[in-house]
Amino acid sequence: MMKMLFLLAGMLPGLYGWAQVKSPEQFLGYKLGERYSPHYKVVNYFRQVAENNTTIVKLEQYGSTNEGRPLLLAFVSSADNISNLENIRKNNLRLAGMASDKTPGSEKGPAIVWLSYNVHGNETSSSEAAMMTLWELVNPDNTKSKEWLKNTVVIIDPCINPDGRDRYVNWFNSVVGKTANPQPFSREHAEPWPGGRSNHYYFDLNRDWAWQTQVETQQRIIRYNEWLPQVHVDFHEQGYNEPYYFAPAAEPYHEVITPWQRDFQTMIGKNNAKYFDEYGWLYFTKERFDLFYPSYGDTYPTYKAAIGMTFEQGGHSRSGAAVINEDGDTLTLSDRINHHFTTGMSTVEITSMNAGRVVKEFKSYYDKARTTPPGEYKAYIIKADESDRLDRLKKLLDRNAIEWNYTVPASYSGFNYFNSKTENFKTADGDIVINTNQSNSNLIKVLFERNSKISDSATYDITAWSMPFVFGLNAYGLPAYITAVTKTAPGLTVAVQPVSSAISAFAARWNGMGSAKFLAALLKKGVKVRYAEQPFSAQGINFEKGTLIITRTSNTSFGNTLEETIKEVAQSSGQRYFPLQSGFVEKGFDFGSDRVRIIHAPKITLLAGEGVSSLGMGEIWHFFDAQLNYPINIVWVNDLNKNVLKETDVLIMPDGNYRFLSDKPTSEILKDWVSSGGKIIAIENAVSQLARNDWGIKLKTTDDKKEEKKDDYNLLRRYEDRERDFLPNYNPGSIYKIELDNSHPLAFGYPGYYYTLKQDDNVYEFIKEGGWNVGVIKKDAQVSGFVGSKLKEKLKDGLILGVQNMGRGHVVYLADNPLFRSFWENGKLLFCNAVFLVGE
Ligand SMILES: [Zn+2]
Repeated sequence: MMKMLFLLAGMLPGLYGWAQVKSPEQFLGYKLGERYSPHYKVVNYFRQVAENNTTIVKLEQYGSTNEGRPLLLAFVSSADNISNLENIRKNNLRLAGMASDKTPGSEKGPAIVWLSYNVHGNETSSSEAAMMTLWELVNPDNTKSKEWLKNTVVIIDPCINPDGRDRYVNWFNSVVGKTANPQPFSREHAEPWPGGRSNHYYFDLNRDWAWQTQVETQQRIIRYNEWLPQVHVDFHEQGYNEPYYFAPAAEPYHEVITPWQRDFQTMIGKNNAKYFDEYGWLYFTKERFDLFYPSYGDTYPTYKAAIGMTFEQGGHSRSGAAVINEDGDTLTLSDRINHHFTTGMSTVEITSMNAGRVVKEFKSYYDKARTTPPGEYKAYIIKADESDRLDRLKKLLDRNAIEWNYTVPASYSGFNYFNSKTENFKTADGDIVINTNQSNSNLIKVLFERNSKISDSATYDITAWSMPFVFGLNAYGLPAYITAVTKTAPGLTVAVQPVSSAISAFAARWNGMGSAKFLAALLKKGVKVRYAEQPFSAQGINFEKGTLIITRTSNTSFGNTLEETIKEVAQSSGQRYFPLQSGFVEKGFDFGSDRVRIIHAPKITLLAGEGVSSLGMGEIWHFFDAQLNYPINIVWVNDLNKNVLKETDVLIMPDGNYRFLSDKPTSEILKDWVSSGGKIIAIENAVSQLARNDWGIKLKTTDDKKEEKKDDYNLLRRYEDRERDFLPNYNPGSIYKIELDNSHPLAFGYPGYYYTLKQDDNVYEFIKEGGWNVGVIKKDAQVSGFVGSKLKEKLKDGLILGVQNMGRGHVVYLADNPLFRSFWENGKLLFCNAVFLVGE
């Protein structure tokens, strides 16, 4: 019997808690750094550690990626803290004023450090470092880390972007030989398109924290807002010739960042430096990586009270698993892992040493946020329109844990975002108000400020993102809090008509993503849909240009199920529709008129591959696949030929460099296809390439030489300023007002203007004949953000949105990207106009 028990116990060691937790080497069978670990091995290692350390590690899966890989968080702390984890979390939320109860939080802590790895999939050392870090936190022989964990909870996300990581790792493992080749020009250093940096849809997840357009971010931020760590590190890699970068960050810092957040960054940086100096490793601080754009893994946590930081190892995909750098040294994967491991542990150490202060400062950050919010406005009122734009904004506010309410009927005086005037206005049904006396007032200030104060214009990213312009919703800034508010949504103002068999048509407004989803779903089901070129009134209701019309007559094949089909589609797309008794309208053109055009379900081809911007292409792919739910063909740019074009109605050329345009025969094939009725939608640099290749559109140029001549002293530049010399010609991303000809289908659903995110200096000459200047920049059209002094001169009186007629076909020019990072909500309808309405 004894023997039997012994045997059983030996077979089930985990069950009896006798098994030893394994180091990464013991578990994986190779030393960290000897090869890349695919994501499932990282997951299995974390599971093994958690299963064998239930008292000090808790592992949870918080979601899955597009390709079905698990997203994990490991909580590591003392046994006392782990057994009390839920109370620690709740207490932390109380300190932030974000708990559902109003009990005051205890400042005893512990402090919470959140370490995020591998947001960029091909910056691959960091998930390996995550395993090493987890191991040394639980390793029974490491007594130091056990001391730290007494007053610190460490949360480890081993891989924010598993799909990207595996895209890189699987590729690399398939091309590396028995030993890694350190020659920078060898194959294993040149990752094929699109690379593993981005997620499944080629989105950069380190630009998505605030907007949360991607499933990885959406699932992670739910947990992030439930925890609100005091310290957050986002691990990255940069070019392999660079030494290591850690905090403190570079200017510009956003003005809401507190002195404590600056100070503790410096303390963390100094602690890292202590170890780097000891080992003789090079590093730099206070350069390049700024704290401004709100959607990064360092800024977003910073605007939520954390010390948010980016740590950058020299490396990423160009460095393979070993690379000879410009100093002639060989940088190995082991080096890269060690460096990230060292800064991670050092950050936990210094936080633990200052845990009391860290927690206290966290609480006072939020106290201050609620009592004395930053910025000139105490409240914002966002005006509702009939579209779903405000619903989408409300969703974004909810995702960021920003509180809002509905207004009640009243009059106020406030600053009008769109005309920059302080004026009186009345609230209307559905308007919302955001009072700033709440915990997230800093984030509100950053997201809603019309102009961000920039202390240094050499920033890493766009400089303008003010929500009213992003969503195309007018807003007012008010000097006082609004106390008269309600949680109740207003009822519908237009009663839906009772349906009778006498219905001859159905109409739906064309004004937002809901309309576009509605149209896409109907076309997919084979319903014939028309659009009104002119406004009309029917049954006493006014309808705008672009209104969708579904007549019984053209849809007889649906018989009695037409109404049911429309109802179903309307519900799933959140679109309202109006049953109409007659095709005879009171004002405007009757439904039989040729001013009511039929929309043919387009066969769409999207170009992908070498030369095409993977980000730009991915945004369009994600738009059709994950948002609109409309099928497209994705075709390698090198496979574009007559056969593909024969099956194409709309050819989409994302931002990119298209070599075939300078090849005469291919260019001719494309022109013939357009002339016989095809439609090209060209975006950003695809437009400038068409301009260079004589497609009838011309880039506007300024004569730089002439300007220089005016003042020869301009040539006298100081050597030490050389890194800033580009600034006068620099546009990192700023908002411009575009005047629209909204009688053209490309601008249906919009007022006479549109706010565009301009990220380059390309404007085009007005189209003189055979086309339409639908969106133009006139004088002084810049609204928000930084633009270099020389570009300010250039960026006026030019075309941004245009349609060129060519035979029976069309070329649509979108000089700026209307789907940028999928967060530029107001551009989505514009893109749908180009796809579905233009040329019909
Ligand atoms: Zn990175």
